[in-house]
Amino acid sequence: MSLNEEIFDFYKRLDRSLFIDNEFREYAGEDKALPIGFEQTISQPSLVLEMTLHLDLNKESKVLEIGTGSGYQTALLAEFSREIYSVERISELSQKAQERLSKLGYKNVSFRVGDGSEGWIQYAPYERIIVTAGAGIIPKELIEQLALGGKMVIPVGKKEVQELNLISKDKQGEITKESLGKVRFVPLVGKYTY
Ligand code: SAM
Repeated sequence: MSLNEEIFDFYKRLDRSLFIDNEFREYAGEDKALPIGFEQTISQPSLVLEMTLHLDLNKESKVLEIGTGSGYQTALLAEFSREIYSVERISELSQKAQERLSKLGYKNVSFRVGDGSEGWIQYAPYERIIVTAGAGIIPKELIEQLALGGKMVIPVGKKEVQELNLISKDKQGEITKESLGKVRFVPLVGKYTY
């Protein structure tokens, strides 16, 4: 099995209802974003898969995730990477995600509650960065914290619609940007919001 096939297989088996504990749980099997409280959402599963595949993970990757949310995306990252650093600004969401991921047996995730717009400098650089909330522009701190040869997936645009961007930093530090299509995320709160 190729890594992408393994990721797809895991995605199919991962029970999304474990990441929802409100009245929307019964809709966990639908390919839709669903409310998780605090005006936030668990992302649409097919989009979580797509973003994960574009990240081109490997077992050596140290990954920074901005927007832990329910922890659903975090589980995919944790399964296929070496270590994850996940930042969430809403402490109640982070706490629940920590409990869920711990129950699932993941020991390679470090959590921080706070504003992740400026990354998490302490553990930089990161081979992969994923932002699961919409930014107005790409935070320069995240570009700086991306390792040489690294990749970042981030939605950038306006409130109504954002462009999903794949940012690559080559071995010389050159940045290239590829557009992966239109998406709609809740805002990345802070100085880089849309
Ligand atoms: N990927 C998550 C999942 O699978 O459940 C969904 C993430 S949700 C669409 C976006 C998350 O980003 C929310 O939980 C929100 O609180 C968080 N967020 C927004 N701005 C943030 C910031 N500046 N720093 C950290 N987290 C932020």
